Amino acid sequence: SLERGPERPETPIQVVLRVRPMNAAELRRGEQSALHCSGTRTLQVSPPGGGPDVAFRFGAVLDGACTQEDVFRVCGVRRLGELALRGFSCTVFTFGQTGSGKTYTLTGPPPQGEGVPIPPSLGGIMQRTFAWLLDRVQNLGAPVTLRASYLEIYNEQVRDLLSLGSSRPLPVRWNKTRGFYVEQLRVVEFGSLEALMELLQMGLSRRRSSAHTLNQASSRSHALLTLYISRQTSQQVSPVDPGEHPVGGKLCFVDLAGSEKVAATGSRGELMLEANSINRSLLALGHCISLLLDPQRKQSHIPFRDSKLTKLLADSLGGRGVTLMVACVSPSAQCLPETLSTLRYASRAQ
Ligand code: ADP
Ligand code: MG
Repeated sequence: SLERGPERPETPIQVVLRVRPMNAAELRRGEQSALHCSGTRTLQVSPPGGGPDVAFRFGAVLDGACTQEDVFRVCGVRRLGELALRGFSCTVFTFGQTGSGKTYTLTGPPPQGEGVPIPPSLGGIMQRTFAWLLDRVQNLGAPVTLRASYLEIYNEQVRDLLSLGSSRPLPVRWNKTRGFYVEQLRVVEFGSLEALMELLQMGLSRRRSSAHTLNQASSRSHALLTLYISRQTSQQVSPVDPGEHPVGGKLCFVDLAGSEKVAATGSRGELMLEANSINRSLLALGHCISLLLDPQRKQSHIPFRDSKLTKLLADSLGGRGVTLMVACVSPSAQCLPETLSTLRYASRAQ
């Protein structure tokens, strides 16, 4: 049942929109919602001060009443997991302004204290996929080797979130067999859900974040956790053929940095530099995606080299896998300018 099919999955990029609930501060300030989920696939936006509603359509639209389990189910992440088990590279990424729920969607709320575990009901797409995958692998009967890496891209520099030693930036290289890869990145084999959860916690607690006028806890880095899935064949041979694709699939989870414009953050100096390289990666990602969606596209002409982020997502975006984008927005009318830019970016990706 797990034979690697030659077929490429139908749509390369699926886009789901998640509208988080109003938060306490927005409610206290009496902010109005500008968004209405009409039906399961359309979002209606009411411009403040009247005027006709604008509609955006996505693969699915999830409103503030949706649970973490709803998000996992509606996003079809299990299907991405199945594809990864069959050797494809699949990616889930969250996109949106700071405070819109990207990290919550992938990994749940921040821990309530040191060592306090996140209640399973609040676990995000990542914890749910991990549990599903470990269970699935156990029931497969065939030997599967699972490994994980976790890195962040900050100011166009790659740092290993699982490194045991120094956290100096690591170079991104390319070769014919591996495609783009991070040199000396720690890739950890794990055999249990608990071990994988520990790697996640280690990386989460190391994620660099800096004070930010929109959200103190915001992260200005892109964080990529990759699961490498290799199945030993019954013949137990894995010919090392440099012309061959590396055996095994990948599942990559990307918590992107906030997509807000520099102007909105009041950033200066170093923070300005950060915001620019964040936008550079996000612009490069949007550019690659739009070219990938062009039916006339030539694979060789997609500018994956324009940013570290697009280099590392090249094999997932570029033809061997499925990418799921969860666009995250606040319902508040105060956030509407940023929300509209998120909606446009996300609309262009499908
Ligand atoms: P981002 O990663 O996009 O900056 P977060 O995921 O950190 O945003 O979300 C901002 C705050 O809102 C956090 O305190 C988070 O726990 C909360 N939050 C986000 N989405 C939801 C949701 N769907 N339900 C409840 N709380 C949420
Ligand atoms: Mg975040």
